[in-house]
Amino acid sequence: MKIILLGAPGCGKGTQAKYLSTEFKIPHISTGDILRKNILDGTEVGKIAKKLIDNGQLVPDDLIIKIVENRLKEDDAKNGFILDGFPRTIIQAEKLENLTKIDKVFLLEVDERVIVDRICSRRVCPVCNSVYNLNIEMIDECKDCGATLIQRADDNEHTVVKRIEEYKKQTAPLIGFYESRNLLSRIDSTCREIAFEAIKKEIYLEA
Ligand code: AMP
Repeated sequence: MKIILLGAPGCGKGTQAKYLSTEFKIPHISTGDILRKNILDGTEVGKIAKKLIDNGQLVPDDLIIKIVENRLKEDDAKNGFILDGFPRTIIQAEKLENLTKIDKVFLLEVDERVIVDRICSRRVCPVCNSVYNLNIEMIDECKDCGATLIQRADDNEHTVVKRIEEYKKQTAPLIGFYESRNLLSRIDSTCREIAFEAIKKEIYLEA
């Protein structure tokens, strides 16, 4: 299964991708995680990405497309994958169509009013990229690997407003793009467990 998770920042893409990756044993490919790793490693890509990410802007299409193209060539992605955070523009989606055939796109929908709160209370594991929400559990260590959780530099009230604007302008048009290809399913992502059940059900129906 080649799956895309689409949705506004804080809609739960990372959480669902992790659940699905465990359930279906296919890799979770998060372009945000790849860029953050580049920033940590101090690569040229990381240097370009840092300023843009910190400002809530998207990194250039060419750069992110190259990253995804290389990642999809890796052995573990041959039998399927979950794309989280890619594509984010029509240009990226068109390029992806030339690279591979996507089976299903899930649009994770949450009330816009809860997004800012969710993002500001989000903590992530810098080692295994697990995502937590302090409103759900007050913890400071990753349950999977024990590392100290951190807050992403762009998970603040100021940057999130810009990220939502970018989503509406550049990414939301992908809803129509995938609807017209009969690939899109809308999922209520208010509750992560219910959302996961709904996604699983659709995938099993499809298979
Ligand atoms: P995420 O972890 O998916 O929220 O992504 C964090 C940030 O990385 C985004 O706000 C963008 O600046 C950048 N980014 C991640 N994926 C993409 C993409 N497909 N296209 C452009 N920028 C991206």
